[in-house]
Amino acid sequence: MRTKPCHRHTWAEVHLDRIGHNIREIRRRLPSGVKFMAAVKADGYGHGAVQSANAALKAGADALAVGMISEALQLRQSGIRAPILVLSPALPSEVDLAAKHDIALTVSEAAWLKEARPFHQSRKPLRLHIKMDSGMGRIGIRDRSEWEAMVPLLRSDGIMVEGVYTHFATANQADSAYYFEQFDRFTEMRSWVAESGFTGFIAHCSNSAAALHYPELSLDMVRVGAALYGINPCEEEVRRRRPVDLQPVLSLHSEIIQVKFVKQGESIGYDRSYVATQDEWLGTVAIGYADGYCKGYQGYHMLVDGQAAPIAGNVCMDLLMIRLPGHYPVGTVVTLIGRQNGREITMEDLAARIGSIPQQVLTMLSSRVPRIYYNKGIYAGTADSHSLSAVTS
Ligand SMILES: *Cc1c(COP(=O)(O)O)cnc(C)c1O
Repeated sequence: MRTKPCHRHTWAEVHLDRIGHNIREIRRRLPSGVKFMAAVKADGYGHGAVQSANAALKAGADALAVGMISEALQLRQSGIRAPILVLSPALPSEVDLAAKHDIALTVSEAAWLKEARPFHQSRKPLRLHIKMDSGMGRIGIRDRSEWEAMVPLLRSDGIMVEGVYTHFATANQADSAYYFEQFDRFTEMRSWVAESGFTGFIAHCSNSAAALHYPELSLDMVRVGAALYGINPCEEEVRRRRPVDLQPVLSLHSEIIQVKFVKQGESIGYDRSYVATQDEWLGTVAIGYADGYCKGYQGYHMLVDGQAAPIAGNVCMDLLMIRLPGHYPVGTVVTLIGRQNGREITMEDLAARIGSIPQQVLTMLSSRVPRIYYNKGIYAGTADSHSLSAVTS
């Protein structure tokens, strides 16, 4: 067994080369010349933003997307110089910081632009992507008058209209009707921009689902997040029609830190939530809901020695108990997401337990879980904001 290069009994392994593999798998399906923007928001969907961004850039990604300015600054501070787009509206007062660091922002209404203009002091241009709401109903302009209200503000000095984009609500679904409604609406909407005399901007619309389902309609650039990390958000029928070999990047492991033999009828956990139905071995595992292993996984199992070990009772904040298939020593590795001796628990399995999606399973993993990086199986560093050296320095 590999020794783990972190101080904790619980850790996530992140195989960065698989981000590269997934990018190549997606890109092979796109028309040539389509740019690839890798979404690394929410700490790279839980994998580590800087590490994921660098892996994506190394695999040929052209640009990065984040959710907030602070996430963009974190990438810049690490030395990343690739184009970055902030997808959610920034505070108007933050635009100068964005300009200074060559961070492109999303503009989704004229009022925001009006408020933001005076904050832009830098001589560097304010890079903007216009967000069109073609049917997602989240952010963006919906009709031409909203566009016309923006035009004079966009024409002012120091503003660069770099892109125009939209977001799909149903690209993952086998039923294409609403996707095409949105696509056609966006075709019309982006013609407004050209008709107002803007040139040299790019148009983009595809998230992972759209890039996989409708690769030929990728326009100038795709914005891919989930699929980078091995998640295929498409419905079963779409996956069958558009097969793609996406590999999960992250696996989650912990250790048994105490082993006990309990007699039939003895109880375990808060509220005596488990009562032993027979004499059996139980193990305490060093992971809990504060690590992002949420209480909703109660009743599910993890892998010990390649066998399913059911969770006994409720998940505590730092710890949980499992039923063991026999006696195992303290220090035995437990796999919560990933493979062990030919058996596998996927992030999709855990998501299904809580009526959610794999993206949430991953982004819930808290900063208490050290991320240990590998590149083609070779150790490539540890990120751990709670390591003893991190908290004592
Ligand atoms: C997060 C996000 C993406 C990436 O979506 P995935 O489904 O993870 O590929 C693309 N565009 C926007 C606007 C987003 O917020």
